[in-house]
Amino acid sequence: MDTLSGKKTQQNIQELYKFLQRSMNKKIVILGAGISGLTTAYLLNKKGYDITVLEKKDEVGGTMESVFENGYLFDRGPNSGLETTPLISQLVEELGLQNEIVYANKIGNKRYILRDNQLHAMPMSPPAFIKTKLFSTGAKLRLFAEPIIGKSDDGYYQSIADFVKRRLGKEFLDYAINPFVAGVYAGNPEELSVKSAFPKLYALEEKYGGLIVGSFKSMKERRKRAEKSKQSAQMFSFLNGMQVLPKAIAKNLGKKVIKSAEVKSISKEISGYKISYSKNGKDEDLMCDVLLSAIPAYYASELFKSIDENLSKHLEQIYYPPVLVLLLAYEKTAIKQPLDGFGFLIPAKEKKSFLGAIWSSILFPNRSDESKAMFTIFVGGARNPEIGNIDKEILFRKVRNEFEEIMGISSEPIFTSYRYWSKSIPQYNIGYIEHEKYFEEFEKRNPGIIIGGNYRGGISVGDCIKNAELVSQRIIQQINN
Ligand SMILES: Cc1cc2nc3c(=O)[nH]c(=O)nc-3n(C[C@H](O)[C@H](O)[C@H](O)COP(=O)(O)OP(=O)(O)OC[C@H]3O[C@@H](n4cnc5c(N)ncnc54)[C@H](O)[C@@H]3O)c2cc1C
Repeated sequence: MDTLSGKKTQQNIQELYKFLQRSMNKKIVILGAGISGLTTAYLLNKKGYDITVLEKKDEVGGTMESVFENGYLFDRGPNSGLETTPLISQLVEELGLQNEIVYANKIGNKRYILRDNQLHAMPMSPPAFIKTKLFSTGAKLRLFAEPIIGKSDDGYYQSIADFVKRRLGKEFLDYAINPFVAGVYAGNPEELSVKSAFPKLYALEEKYGGLIVGSFKSMKERRKRAEKSKQSAQMFSFLNGMQVLPKAIAKNLGKKVIKSAEVKSISKEISGYKISYSKNGKDEDLMCDVLLSAIPAYYASELFKSIDENLSKHLEQIYYPPVLVLLLAYEKTAIKQPLDGFGFLIPAKEKKSFLGAIWSSILFPNRSDESKAMFTIFVGGARNPEIGNIDKEILFRKVRNEFEEIMGISSEPIFTSYRYWSKSIPQYNIGYIEHEKYFEEFEKRNPGIIIGGNYRGGISVGDCIKNAELVSQRIIQQINN
């Protein structure tokens, strides 16, 4: 009996070993070395899976671009992330970035909103809310009605503007949500779907019946899951800018990340998927069992046309408005406005030519010399998509004049730079759910292909990282099936 059960155990171990070997031998190709693709690659590589990342540019990070110019550290894409998942600190530790990570100056909790050419601090406590001049007395009283307002029918086809107007009133939409949406999505609240773009906010109504009651109840649940809300999560960056994180992941992956490798086509073969890419003018092919697309939707649209025309059409419809990111630096002595916060956002009603400004050198160290102040200003977005057609010199002058007036700045900037993103952030607009449904159907019909990146599961750096963890689990499941 003993020898028999011993043989059986040995057989089982051998079977398991063969199964694991088969899984590990499967080839995974990831398109795009932005934070989404790289984090997924990192998690799979750590577990021993065979991965290759193909990146079109000669640098990794995608929209995470950090450059030193004239002594100023310019984050041309994301300026910070929120530590909403424990995976971020895990990555920092495993990649040895403990001395690089920096948390935002506490005064960054103070955020300003422009109203009638004046900066008003966003109230963060009930007494501050009562005192603020940002909202009228009528608007403040309107908030008391929120808990008794009933649920809506369908959040996928409801804009964040309609949702907020109904629950919190028009003034709250204009002076809190409108600038907030511009700050996060560079988006238009009338077009963004509340359920697709702000699923957690919508869930408060769906699950608890309202925003105020829901906020308290969900806080308790998050604590249990060791998760943090976007409001309470710490804001982080790195001493040398946000791009430090993707660069460190790529360094860890070594030769598994192939840069300057633009994927030109994908085809389905009997033995898997064939990825054709061009590296230094030379065409190369790579076969794989699993393919993760972590490139922007408008690029994926081209690549997947040969596999599924409808998928390509869905991808093509995802709107990325243009955004111009402008760096302005001044001598601190030339600025009247106290630099005691994150920066400010501008409601559309104020009719300015930019969306808002981050007081970058106040928020994080190593952005500029101590005697200078460096600002990152965002222009365009879904609110002003025509910026692409305006003469840059004229636009800069207008933005600068308005910015200097708001900040009480009396002299010329000592340094300026900019980065123009013709397609910046994907908008989860009304109708987005149809794209999402199609992506799911497509993935069911085409096992081995996963459609990912920041147009699925959230646009923030934190969401991309969280999502990468889920995607890596899905890939492992597919491989083991
Ligand atoms: C101006 C701006 C400001 C932002 N500010 C913030 C912020 O403050 N905080 C925050 O949390 N988020 C912010 N975001 C959002 C966040 O930065 C992005 O959503 C996130 O970095 C996207 O990562 P990703 O990997 O999904 O995509 P991407 O960063 O777009 O990476 C995709 C990669 O795919 C590559 N690629 C494309 N086509 C091909 C091809 N054919 N073959 C091979 N490779 C290809 C690209 O070169 C790129 O490297 C901001 C975004 C922008 C544009």
